[in-house]
Amino acid sequence: MKFNQSNIKKAKKCLDSNKCIAVPTETVYGLAANAYSTKAVKKIFNLKKRPKSNPLIVHYSSLQSLKKDCLVNSDFIKLYKRFCPGPITFILKLKNSSRISKLVTNKQNTLAVRFPKHYTISKLLKIINYPLAAPSANITTKLSSVKVEDVKDEFGDKLSYILDGGKSKIGIESTIISLIRSPQILRLGGLEVKKIEKVLKKKIKINVNPLKKIAPGQSKLHYSPGIPVRLNITKPKRNEAYILINKRNKKSNHFYYISKNKNLNEAAKNLYSCLRKIKNKGYKSIAVEKIPNKNLGSSINDRLNRASKF
Ligand code: AMP
Ligand code: MG
Repeated sequence: MKFNQSNIKKAKKCLDSNKCIAVPTETVYGLAANAYSTKAVKKIFNLKKRPKSNPLIVHYSSLQSLKKDCLVNSDFIKLYKRFCPGPITFILKLKNSSRISKLVTNKQNTLAVRFPKHYTISKLLKIINYPLAAPSANITTKLSSVKVEDVKDEFGDKLSYILDGGKSKIGIESTIISLIRSPQILRLGGLEVKKIEKVLKKKIKINVNPLKKIAPGQSKLHYSPGIPVRLNITKPKRNEAYILINKRNKKSNHFYYISKNKNLNEAAKNLYSCLRKIKNKGYKSIAVEKIPNKNLGSSINDRLNRASKF
């Protein structure tokens, strides 16, 4: 995807006038608006049909701009230095003086923040003078988008603008870590937990399915293609789409590879496009072969488990 300065200017113009647009990131595409403007942020909730109780992730271009809104601590600085920009979202304490719209946080005193790595959104963030609230560009509970066509599939022509940045490199949402008390993982995602543990030099609690939900990404049904998804399947039903991560000798039109050699990074990158392709072909159900529950495989399984609650 070629970088295009005039498209970034168009995006800025829309955002400056309180519009909501789709933006590329390295994880998935986001639906972005000025996080300081309640009028702009309201449009995100309406377009996504997102309950107001589900707060948004805010995207920053620098530590300096983040510090206007949030209090930072030593764990944050260690992780920021090692992984940012990148696929990690931090839950931090909001400053009383912060200008973040109350709608973004559902009036809580914590904020989810991220520094995206994608070249196009980084450029955009540098030329605007506010942070961007940007949840994933999908209708609530549905599949996330990893390219412009997916965003159009979700929203038709309802968006003011879609900034094209090619296909998202990671293909799965960011890992969310809360640093409000002792660190805990609220969502598995594009950054492996063991890498975070290595930097913080401690075991981190994984709290992705709590009795009381802390983050709505923890909802039982999420990331759904809208048809049943069956997991750990060795024998698919007749006419069922079969998602595979390892090459088979047998050929079938119903086989959909997210990797051909158990490469979990490649599988994560291809997961949502594959589910979307299968949904759009009109299949009635999806079978998935067992995915190893390690590295990004754990994040893939998290998404598939939630998708299977349909
Ligand atoms: P999305 O960007 O649509 O993938 O979703 C953002 C995720 O971040 C959702 O699961 C939110 O519930 C979660 N989130 C946003 N703000 C907070 C917060 N202050 N505390 C905990 N989780 C949050
Ligand atoms: Mg989402």
